Amino acid sequence: MKIGAHDVAILFSETADVELAREGLCGRSDVERLTIELRSDLAPSVRHETLLHEVLHHVWHQTALPELCGDQEEIVIRSLAPILSTVVQFTDRRIP
Ligand SMILES: [Zn+2]
Repeated sequence: MKIGAHDVAILFSETADVELAREGLCGRSDVERLTIELRSDLAPSVRHETLLHEVLHHVWHQTALPELCGDQEEIVIRSLAPILSTVVQFTDRRIP
């Protein structure tokens, strides 16, 4: 998936499913390795919102927001993702 100037890999794996569930997460982003790991066992609407949430982490780190907002990243993204998920569609067929 292209996010800004970067190609970000969306990854699904049994290992990620186990690790993310153990940590109580639906997904996670690595903004330096340019990856998003998503659990494959999520309901379609949860997977969609989780991917958008993780995309927003990548967007965040391509802007000046880290300098402007410091540790507000998770709060801002958690506030935006549920609303934006109703107006954003992904073309990746693995994502509903
Ligand atoms: Zn987050």
